Amino acid sequence: MKNISIWQDTVNNSDKYESLKENIDVDILIIGGGITGCSTFYQFKDDNRKIALVEKNRIGSGASSRSSAKITFLQEDIYTKLNNIFGRDKAYLYYRGEKEALKIASNLIEKEKIDCDLKKSKSYLYTLDSSNIKRIEKEKELLSSFGEKTTSIKKLPNGMKVESGFYVNETYTFHPLKFIKQIVKKSISLSHRVYENTKIIKVENDGDSFKCYTEGNIIKTKKIVLVLHYPYFLLPYLMPLKCYLEKSFLVCSSVNNSYDFNAINIEKPLKSMRYYNDYLLTVSSSDNLAFASNSKNMVNDLENNTNITNYDYVWSNYDLMTLDHLPLIGFIDDNLILSTGYNTWGNSNGILASTIIKDLIDNKYNIYKELFDPRRSFNKQKLINYPLNIFSNLYSFIDSKVNKNKSFYNGNPKFTRIDGRAIAIYKDDRGKEHIVYNKCPHLGCGLVFNEVEKTWDCPCHGSRFDLDGKCIMGPSNYDISYK
Ligand SMILES: Cc1cc2nc3c(=O)[nH]c(=O)nc-3n(C[C@H](O)[C@H](O)[C@H](O)COP(=O)(O)OP(=O)(O)OC[C@H]3O[C@@H](n4cnc5c(N)ncnc54)[C@H](O)[C@@H]3O)c2cc1C
Repeated sequence: MKNISIWQDTVNNSDKYESLKENIDVDILIIGGGITGCSTFYQFKDDNRKIALVEKNRIGSGASSRSSAKITFLQEDIYTKLNNIFGRDKAYLYYRGEKEALKIASNLIEKEKIDCDLKKSKSYLYTLDSSNIKRIEKEKELLSSFGEKTTSIKKLPNGMKVESGFYVNETYTFHPLKFIKQIVKKSISLSHRVYENTKIIKVENDGDSFKCYTEGNIIKTKKIVLVLHYPYFLLPYLMPLKCYLEKSFLVCSSVNNSYDFNAINIEKPLKSMRYYNDYLLTVSSSDNLAFASNSKNMVNDLENNTNITNYDYVWSNYDLMTLDHLPLIGFIDDNLILSTGYNTWGNSNGILASTIIKDLIDNKYNIYKELFDPRRSFNKQKLINYPLNIFSNLYSFIDSKVNKNKSFYNGNPKFTRIDGRAIAIYKDDRGKEHIVYNKCPHLGCGLVFNEVEKTWDCPCHGSRFDLDGKCIMGPSNYDISYK
């Protein structure tokens, strides 16, 4: 069984880009090579300005390489939620944006002949619980009122019986890493450069431009597009208060019959599915990261929820959840654009964001600017959720310090202190010891061992480190290797 995503395992990794080795001066700097950063880079393909895309690891190594890779506008009961908070017009505007994103993606893939296993499929929303039938009906009615064709069902195409459900047409599944890597390759030119293994550790205002520091060089830029999933800095944006991270496990199991549909249920426990070649990909056991430290328990829950115990791949993914269910896309400061908070729907939203970002930079009107504005004003929902987010941040910080979640591990790994610093030692199957500092360099949380994927994970803000301490994901900009 492999503990990487099926996308990471089935992509050609031969296109590598040099890290930055000199000071450079550009017009636009895109920080983060996930689906948002790479789609944005593509949007500027034929632009005359100088553009750099920097990625702290390899292109596509973040959340985008670990999703279930649906591109769909049917996103649980998002339209009911938005209708309740903002009213029908804004719910409709979100729907319009998601539909547009699907069109942008399919047109781009066709125009550029991107070979990324794009498949048109139906998306299903279902419930297994009779008390949720009304919720399904509400979402269906709302979508119908937007002009969308919806069809009721009593079972999924693979024969799974449901209490209630419906499907919509014209949605997609794809291979996200094949997509990301190819659109980057298509967009490179002498004035449009990509730098891998190049992390931005500090951003400074410098008159009417910015100085962005990597570990050895400075990038001077007029505009910044911050698409790094979870910003490493606290101020000015205070992300931990505005969003929380949701963590889920995904498994892929080989099946005899594969189907062209994707489905998600409306309740918890989550049971989302799609097929890829001869595999069934299932997502389950999602939880607020603060309460999802024990990866082994999460996978046990997934097995219980889904009755899937034999699988070829298992991996986790995190996404940023916003307080009002809308992504955060737009200016957070003069010439500084942020895009994140996709509430587990970053393929459509990341692609849509790239076109919004292009318009914002070009000073053009964009119909979604106000809807996604990260500086949008407080509303009742936010006021309720701010204290909840403060609580979950504090909970995971204190839990990581007081408990260190040691009780999970049956003696491996071991925790100790050397020269006053918290150390963790993991002994692998061959008896080799892997020693790391047990404190997240981002904001100082104690790290939790992820027994499923054999990584050190931060329970506060989602940074992850491999057995030898290299940061592989999340806001931390530094490793935890013991030296
Ligand atoms: C279980 C699960 C299933 C999901 N399934 C779906 C799905 O089916 N469909 C869908 O639409 N969405 C799905 N999502 C959501 C989707 O995975 C994310 O929303 C999306 O991948 C986020 O893309 P991104 O570009 O913002 O971030 P990322 O892909 O994480 O890209 C950000 C990049 O920035 C880099 N970076 C970070 N800091 C720095 C720095 N200081 N300097 C330079 N680079 C830096 C990182 O290394 C990373 O590569 C799912 C999420 C989860 C949790």
